Amino acid sequence: MITRFSKKFPRQIEFTDRSRESFKERFESRRRSSRGAPSGIRTTCSLCSATLDPIANFIYRSYIVNQCVQCALIQTIELFDDSIIDFAEVYSDNLNSNRFAERRESVHEPKLEWLINSLDTLQLDSSKMTFFEYGCGDGGFVASAVDLSLNCEGVERDDKLLSVCESLGYAKFVSSSNVEITDAIRDGVFDVFIAFFVLEHLEDLNAVSEAIRHTKLGKFFLFSVPTFGFSCLLEQAFEDQFARNFDGFVHNKVFTDSTIDFFADLCGCEIVNRWIFGQDIEDVIRSFDLKLAKNAPSKDVLETLKANADQLQRSLDRALVSDARHFLMRRV
Ligand SMILES: [Zn+2]
Repeated sequence: MITRFSKKFPRQIEFTDRSRESFKERFESRRRSSRGAPSGIRTTCSLCSATLDPIANFIYRSYIVNQCVQCALIQTIELFDDSIIDFAEVYSDNLNSNRFAERRESVHEPKLEWLINSLDTLQLDSSKMTFFEYGCGDGGFVASAVDLSLNCEGVERDDKLLSVCESLGYAKFVSSSNVEITDAIRDGVFDVFIAFFVLEHLEDLNAVSEAIRHTKLGKFFLFSVPTFGFSCLLEQAFEDQFARNFDGFVHNKVFTDSTIDFFADLCGCEIVNRWIFGQDIEDVIRSFDLKLAKNAPSKDVLETLKANADQLQRSLDRALVSDARHFLMRRV
């Protein structure tokens, strides 16, 4: 397995009064009190189906959370009805078509380049392969792939998110669909199946692994997932602020490196390449900024942290405590 570390922040970290307000609003919208009573209780692990041992329970931002003793997946015990979640609202930044080109350059194109290079090192020609993205959001990754003449399509359930790339000429490469990920894996035509930050939204990860296990040998799967690391410590220490990584509601499960290895095994896959980079330092600076930005000496330190964000984040990535993993695995 090849491991790549870190990715530069696309631009200097800055917060405006509007972005500070936006984070306060997001915190309010995801407060536990706004969700009512739990709609159910999880008794078995979402990934490996083991009975969850209450001894492994702990409290995370007022939620009862369990780390599965078998696969190390961290998941909430209480389940809340998430049908009220408006994903276009959650990912509202992606609705800004003026920023589409910027997001492609900073987010999607580096991932595509990494994927093509990964296939290249395996002596596979990506121009002869078929790519399928599940949960393609604003379509930026699909658009980037299509512009490189790759055979790539995407599906997304949120029409508002899709409208961005549709309006920019990529409508025939994306479609609005409520297809379950397991059906997309079983019935889809692809050499490489891609899903960025989707798994943490799904209830039955065991079914996903089962579907992958039934695909033909040699198929590739590219996933990214949030991981329990530095940002999760921060979210627990600053409970009065927006939790980007693991809020117990929009994200009610979070991975560890052991969980990812377990998942790959369960899928009958080997991880061939992974890319470890996070945004933890941006979270730290945001948390400090929200409380301390009006205090002049603290503001000076914050400015220094912002100027050194890449270097600080690199340390967390290298120490394997950053907030996310991208991994490419092959069915073997
Ligand atoms: Zn488990």
